Amino acid sequence: MVKVVVLGAGIGGLVVAKKIRQKLPAGNQVILIEKRLRQYFQPSLYWLMIGERKERDIYRNLAGVFPPGLEFIHDEALEIKPVTKKIILKNREPITYDILVVATGTEADPAVFPDLTGVGHNLHTLEGIKGLCAGLNIFTGGEIAIVKTSLPDLCPTALYEAAILLNSLLIKKGLKGQYQLTIYTPLERPLIEVSNDLNKCISKELDRHQIRVKTASQFESIDPAAQKLKFTGFTAPYDLLLYAPVYKGQTVIRNSELGDESGWMPVDPQYLYAANDLFAMGDSTIIKTPSGKYLPMMGAVTTLQKNIIISNVLALATGSLPDKKYKGYASCFFDVGAGQVKPAFSNFYHQKDPAYYFLPASRWWRIARRLIEYDWLRQGKPIK
Ligand SMILES: Cc1cc2nc3c(=O)[nH]c(=O)nc-3n(C[C@H](O)[C@H](O)[C@H](O)COP(=O)(O)OP(=O)(O)OC[C@H]3O[C@@H](n4cnc5c(N)ncnc54)[C@H](O)[C@@H]3O)c2cc1C
Repeated sequence: MVKVVVLGAGIGGLVVAKKIRQKLPAGNQVILIEKRLRQYFQPSLYWLMIGERKERDIYRNLAGVFPPGLEFIHDEALEIKPVTKKIILKNREPITYDILVVATGTEADPAVFPDLTGVGHNLHTLEGIKGLCAGLNIFTGGEIAIVKTSLPDLCPTALYEAAILLNSLLIKKGLKGQYQLTIYTPLERPLIEVSNDLNKCISKELDRHQIRVKTASQFESIDPAAQKLKFTGFTAPYDLLLYAPVYKGQTVIRNSELGDESGWMPVDPQYLYAANDLFAMGDSTIIKTPSGKYLPMMGAVTTLQKNIIISNVLALATGSLPDKKYKGYASCFFDVGAGQVKPAFSNFYHQKDPAYYFLPASRWWRIARRLIEYDWLRQGKPIK
């Protein structure tokens, strides 16, 4: 009998655990561990911002949704002991595994810039978006600053998408000409950390929406009384402040000494193998691609890694060699305002630079985004 444990039931882990349970012969054990039963779909936050979703529309509840045979543990893993193949849990006895899949995602680190919390609106959380919506109700014009605080960023395109959708919303509210939207990024060009192709595409969209980008802006601190942001070498005013938080690897990975110095787990770029019978996927991992850039933390990447993990775990569990390779592909859909969505297909393992292929934006591609959202939501129950 083989005991497979999947840690984390987010975009990657939940489907992986269910599929492995479905395909692994009875008699083998599959366990899924997750600390949060109520989860919201982060990519839908900006639809909430523009009024196309209500809070309850983007939540799922995992209580009681698991198929027979899949054991679910609602708990937080504190530490993984890869040598003895043990997981230390917060509220119960440790459990052992034969094969482990780590899908714990990433974690924001509010301690790096504590002053931002409460003054600015965090663009990556429901709380932040709700605060922003309240702020927009009384906003009559002025400087809107959007700060990318550091790298790596969770879903690097999200901040730009938020800016574009916010701009469309303000125009709809009749505020055209009464505000200036500026994005501050530590990079030399927007999204250059992901790919040159993507940088060109997004820069064009930002120009079209007259959103200013101030590059090489390393955020340092904030003076709330003067409503000023301090960057290395200059200051900038704000009336409304939005930001993407600083990220680090998950606590459980850092406690386990499985990760790099920031807590992300290095894995084999193709087989997604991390250590002794241990696979990892999605935002919990760090992968340097052939071009020297890092694979971005995106649901689009996690989604394509799922099948690789499922296949390789099943192979290992049944005594074969894991031979399925992740080839660096991902497909995603950017909301570029006015209901238009632009599809992009990427190959992150392209030798020279991650390659992107774009199709023209259209309202039809919204269906693809809706389906992705629907597929995630239907894995749980709606909340009352
Ligand atoms: C605002 C926003 C918009 C985004 N938009 C897009 C988009 O348009 N397209 C796109 O591709 N990506 C987007 N993303 C990124 C996407 O949401 C993530 O890349 C994706 O969720 C990663 O999947 P994952 O399975 O690796 O981790 P997650 O989905 O984060 O799942 C990790 C799970 O592990 C659980 N967990 C963590 N630690 C423990 C522990 N110690 N014990 C037990 N359980 C634990 C967590 O509770 C969580 O449920 C967006 C992100 C944000 C913030």
